[in-house]
Amino acid sequence: EIMRETPAKPAPEQRRTVRLTHPDRIYWPDAGVTKAGLADYYAEIWPRIAPFVTGRPLALLRCPEGIKGQTFFQKHVWKGIGRQVAPVVDPKHKSEAALISVNDLDGLIALVQAAALEIHPWGATVTDWERPDVMVMDLDPGEGVDWSAVTQAAEEVRQRLEAAGLAAFLKTSGGKGLHVVSPLSPKADWREAKAFAKAMAEAMASDTPDRYVATIAKSKRRGRILIDYLRNQRGATAVAPYSTRARPGAPVSTPLHWDELGPGIGPAHFTVSNLRDRLEMQKRDPWDGFRGAAIPLPARP
Ligand code: ATP
Ligand code: MN
Ligand code: MN
Repeated sequence: EIMRETPAKPAPEQRRTVRLTHPDRIYWPDAGVTKAGLADYYAEIWPRIAPFVTGRPLALLRCPEGIKGQTFFQKHVWKGIGRQVAPVVDPKHKSEAALISVNDLDGLIALVQAAALEIHPWGATVTDWERPDVMVMDLDPGEGVDWSAVTQAAEEVRQRLEAAGLAAFLKTSGGKGLHVVSPLSPKADWREAKAFAKAMAEAMASDTPDRYVATIAKSKRRGRILIDYLRNQRGATAVAPYSTRARPGAPVSTPLHWDELGPGIGPAHFTVSNLRDRLEMQKRDPWDGFRGAAIPLPARP
């Protein structure tokens, strides 16, 4: 059964029942994280990650030999995928292979079994494919950009989103940058969502051209931050909050409180290994109230 709206409250804890083959296979050699270690991580983080990965199409970065081996980005179900994974047919592409979705912890663990080291959801659910329920502004620093400039960019995106009436939530990407995410009531369609995000990115680039660019042309990015609004088009994905990344150190795309933004926490600061301590010490999930803060997307930023 698929939820109509992702819940405002964390999902209840669940036990995993999927059997792992080769549980000791090493996925992140430098961090010593194995397949079983990754499954344990997701079982522990389940109440927090569930609203962001259930009931929506998922793309996976699969790494059967771990992060050092060949990796591939996969959007469609395949023969031999765990039966805990729910195939979903894109209503606009009914003759194509089904996309991947999960409805519970066992579905996510089946993806771990399939060596999915990154989970990249759509910004819409399978109950409302045409109307996104999140907007993701992806901040991609070009070469030679200081971290302080990236944190300033996130603050500016937040201000602009809030000025438009939207809530803004922050996470590390687990890679090089930051993501600022707004919950939406699914009203506007993909075309409108992309137009909004594009207008905001272009406004930043035209107001401060020495800092920001809104086009992906590599030549223009050196020393600037790309405000990558293209996460907000039909079929696009962005890495899920609390998903691991297939990069050295087993980093995790980690939700932050806005007052944590600063020099002390870099984009790959939190990892499978140190996130457990953070969860134990943290009184409140930084993304508490995410779904409850959703509003319909305004016409323009
Ligand atoms: P960083 O902070 O390093 O930028 P990121 O997750 O934001 O990390 P980007 O390169 O900015 O990475 O984002 C690329 C996005 O495109 C990813 O979020 C993912 O959902 C999607 N993506 C990644 N790899 C592929 C691929 N091979 N094919 C299609 N889409 C991809
Ligand atoms: Mn990025
Ligand atoms: Mn990007």
